[in-house]
Amino acid sequence: MSKFWSPAVRELTPYVPGEQPRERLIKLNTNENPYPPAPGIEAALREFSADHLRRYPDPQSIALREALAEVLGVTTEQVFVGNGSDEVLALAFQAFFRQGRPLEMPSISYSFYPVYCRLYDVERRALPLDDEWRVDLDAFTLESAGVIFANPNAPTGHGHSRAAIAGLLERITESVVLVDEAYVDFGGESAVPLVERFPNLLVTGTFSKSRSLAGLRLGYAVGSRELIEGLERVKDSFNSYPIDSLTSALGIASLTDREHFEACREAVITTRERTRVRLEALGFQVLPSQTNFLLVSHPKLDAAQLFVELRERRVLVRHFNTEVLRDYLRISIGTDDEMDSLIEALESLCR
Ligand code: PMP
Repeated sequence: MSKFWSPAVRELTPYVPGEQPRERLIKLNTNENPYPPAPGIEAALREFSADHLRRYPDPQSIALREALAEVLGVTTEQVFVGNGSDEVLALAFQAFFRQGRPLEMPSISYSFYPVYCRLYDVERRALPLDDEWRVDLDAFTLESAGVIFANPNAPTGHGHSRAAIAGLLERITESVVLVDEAYVDFGGESAVPLVERFPNLLVTGTFSKSRSLAGLRLGYAVGSRELIEGLERVKDSFNSYPIDSLTSALGIASLTDREHFEACREAVITTRERTRVRLEALGFQVLPSQTNFLLVSHPKLDAAQLFVELRERRVLVRHFNTEVLRDYLRISIGTDDEMDSLIEALESLCR
């Protein structure tokens, strides 16, 4: 604790991200993609001239926003880009949710949302999930400063349909509804087509998961011009997008390779369903998932201990030490070989 810290910082419990180990482990703990980025990324890296770095990047990030707009079926003005969706979310908290009323979110969702609430002095109202651990869309109220949830949700894995999100937006019209689609490409249904109809809908997305570019730090938001302008107003420098030239070039290269993108996400989905069956055969309860991870529990095994024993067998998964998630492990989907190693390790532990 330092006397130099402002009061909000003194009370901050930092978000503890999943471990990035230095040793070689089978890494199934931070929902990264097990497959390499599109082959065009390598080519774009080779073609990128270091001389570009001498100049400032395009302050409007036009080429990247145009490429994203085309893929998402919206206009360039409806797209905002940032350094990972975490940064886009941070800007959204500042632009929309500091209203002096609580922001509503599911009690179990992305654990960064409560951190941003503390950081940006936003009161938080956590609403329970429904009986099947789905985000309860009916629970959100009109009195809030806004609504935020991940769809599909993390770490529970369930995603609502676009029609269900439209139902929520018909009811909540006076504040921003932020739908975080970090995992939507693994079987969810995107709400992006709804931005035309609902000026208070902001959808965020990332290149970290389905595009295998977590190390690049590229995320985006899609919404009405009104909302995008709100984000533009709070970003660091009033007139410039925070994306560097290399990230822009690689982001565009990723967007142009549809084939690789489709093949990787299909592979992840197939492996996920195969893994589900094998985990269930070992006695695990596995929540339905439209993401690149599975949330699992075992009626007879202690999740915290299992986490440690798996790590001893060189398999790293995620255990959240919170009251509601204590009995669960979140397992990111790796390659088939990696999942074979996971299952082998679990077989030896379940014996
Ligand atoms: N939203 C959710 C639900 C996430 O799980 C993550 C990744 N941990 C993010 C947003 C942030 O992703 P990134 O900053 O890599 O785009």
